Amino acid sequence: MSKERVCLIGSGNWGSAVGKIVSENILKHPDIFERQVRQWVFEEDFKGEKLTDVINREHENPKYLPGIKFADNLTAVPDLVDACEDATVLVFVLPHQFVRGVCDKLSGKIPSNAKAISLIKGLEIKPEGVTLFSEEIARLLGINVAALSGANIADEVAQEKFCETTIGCRSQADGELFFKLFNTDYFHVNVIRDYVGVELCGALKNVVAVGAGLSDGLGYGSNTKAAIIRLGLMEMRKFGQTFFGGVEDTTFFESCGVADLITTCSGGRNRKVAEAFVLTGKPIDELERELLNGQKLQGTLTAQEVHQFLAPRNMTSEFPLFETVYRIIYKGAPIDSIVKDI
Ligand code: NAD
Ligand code: 13P
Repeated sequence: MSKERVCLIGSGNWGSAVGKIVSENILKHPDIFERQVRQWVFEEDFKGEKLTDVINREHENPKYLPGIKFADNLTAVPDLVDACEDATVLVFVLPHQFVRGVCDKLSGKIPSNAKAISLIKGLEIKPEGVTLFSEEIARLLGINVAALSGANIADEVAQEKFCETTIGCRSQADGELFFKLFNTDYFHVNVIRDYVGVELCGALKNVVAVGAGLSDGLGYGSNTKAAIIRLGLMEMRKFGQTFFGGVEDTTFFESCGVADLITTCSGGRNRKVAEAFVLTGKPIDELERELLNGQKLQGTLTAQEVHQFLAPRNMTSEFPLFETVYRIIYKGAPIDSIVKDI
């Protein structure tokens, strides 16, 4: 049987933490995986050098995950199509706003026997409909796509602090392969079939985390944040029931569900930037540049996309927390509406 060739598409904070896990795990399974793993890196300058050159020399991504080494079988590649050539396993791990451009470049270039997994936390939301990225990538590239999401702040995972994650996958064989690619003694993978629930949770919890950050910025305490998390969980469930029918309630008890809400609302970037939005009064994109050093926020954009999807259906009032986050960030609504209007 021919071996699987893995390519990582993305090299940000989570993409780099995943680069460490995958490059190490591939070495543990030489019977299943080709030794070399490629990582597509969106090329940029790092202190006068190309970031890919630095990664390939240092076995580390000093821009997005400083101080953490990859195994030496990971190669950074600046050209997307070169990185994916002959790959049989594609790991999509990039901010959701860039996925469409990547898929357009890969269209027609991926063999139909390849498989993919999406670690993206976001939804493809257009006024005419909402789609999961796993389904969007599957449609654009003509391959099967699973999803991975969990309570996984990248820096903590990279420091090998114990956590769990959830893989949603319909095919048992693919689920077993992805388990081998990702599971470690500090990163416990649970494979379930409900990939829809896994992805929905990962995307929508980012909006709730923006709400939690607004509450922190106003000086509210743990009780308020717990209320925002509870109401957010209810809206996530309702969104799934209303627009995706088949989401299973048990999925909310997996790492991708309530656990990810808790960690993102305490230690995530969405929370941090939303808190700074209250404390400084600066626009979100300015704070993103100032505070995140090239990393990208997902929750504010998702709040806007959810609004653009709900508004033409006259359904914004049915999701008061999501809508309030949108109105505060994009419409100048009073910040205390995060407690008054939800
Ligand atoms: P990031 O926000 O750290 O990094 C941004 C990345 O986007 C960089 O690699 C940058 O080079 C790249 N980029 C910038 N402009 C681009 C363009 N025009 N086209 C393509 N790429 C471009 O990314 P991340 O943390 O790896 O996040 C990827 C996904 O993983 C997101 O959906 C995120 O929600 C999710 N996630 C993140 C974490 C975390 O703790 N960071 C944990 C779990 C899941
Ligand atoms: P942030 O993007 O808010 O940092 O969340 C990271 C995450 O998804 C942790 O599971």
